[in-house]
Amino acid sequence: MKQIESKLITGLLDALKKIETPIVIIPHMNPDGDAIGSALGFGRVLKNSGKKVSVISPDSFPSFYKWMTGSRDIIFYNNEKKKADEKIKEAGMIICMDFNEISRTGDMETVIENFKGKRILIDHHPEPQCFADITISYPECSSSAELSFHIINEMGYKKFMDKESAECLYCGIMTDTGSFDYSIRNPQTFRSLSDLISYSIDPIEIHHNVFDTYSEDRMRLLGYCLSEGMEVFPEYHAAIISLPRDVQKRFHYVKGDNEGFVNYPLSIKGIRFSVLFSEIKDQVKVSLRSTGSFSVTEIARDYYNGGGHCNASGGEISNLSLEEVKDQFRKNLPLYVKNMKEEE
Ligand code: 5GP
Ligand code: MN
Repeated sequence: MKQIESKLITGLLDALKKIETPIVIIPHMNPDGDAIGSALGFGRVLKNSGKKVSVISPDSFPSFYKWMTGSRDIIFYNNEKKKADEKIKEAGMIICMDFNEISRTGDMETVIENFKGKRILIDHHPEPQCFADITISYPECSSSAELSFHIINEMGYKKFMDKESAECLYCGIMTDTGSFDYSIRNPQTFRSLSDLISYSIDPIEIHHNVFDTYSEDRMRLLGYCLSEGMEVFPEYHAAIISLPRDVQKRFHYVKGDNEGFVNYPLSIKGIRFSVLFSEIKDQVKVSLRSTGSFSVTEIARDYYNGGGHCNASGGEISNLSLEEVKDQFRKNLPLYVKNMKEEE
């Protein structure tokens, strides 16, 4: 990753120095390990520097992130709107964490739009929307957590780091790289990880806390999805998994149970494009993953009202049933993979 522009660091430092009111950090909706880890990790460093900081998430996160220090103090906008609105009213700065479009915060969109204080964006998604006073966007960075750690270093705030903030930032990098499986070619990321581990954190325990917490139902749901819910299209190097409502009911689905499912088909030899269709509330949530140079961002944007990274994107459809979405996918698949390179 290239050096963070010094005017951004100076700008952020200046803004932090001037501000005497509390700071609110906002991750994206359905926050993942990176959104939660970077919000809590960066937030804790600011707290240790003497600031008053709260994290307000648009909605809840899976229980396997609850071990992170500070996670129990996160305010959920969908459940605690009044408390959240009060916090935002008192705040002089909001830090938007790990998203490139305000719409990724759902009902908090207007809160961010109407906010009168300083707006900071820290993110690693491509093509960020221009809404913040200071936009620190580095899509080449593995995660917002790694980017936050670089910012902490550049600001000279390393003295405010501690074991707990290091754990949160480590977790963000670990989850956004699929446990160091992708987005992990840059030696700088390993240097950051090494630095974070030096705060006496236990990487084995962190991995265990996130990935070895399946309920029996969740493990059986995964088994069912792979044996019964997966369709493979070898000629297009593609596979899909569907997660209909009745299957969720059968396996007592709770939020987060499908995390990571979309990656499994990529372990099949020859498969480079994988999609998970989940019936969530009255929508079909679509998760897209790919390997190599084949980008799924455009498919997410053009067909599923979404976006994301080259190899990991998402979106949703509200006006079609799960079967209709899958039919449309099968029909369009040759078009989607038109630009896929033959061998990688
Ligand atoms: P996931 O499949 O895990 O929900 O999302 C994968 C990636 O796509 C994440 O980086 C996430 O930020 C992005 N993403 C997921 N849903 C949406 C969406 O509705 N809109 C946009 N712009 N990006 C999304
Ligand atoms: Mn991220």
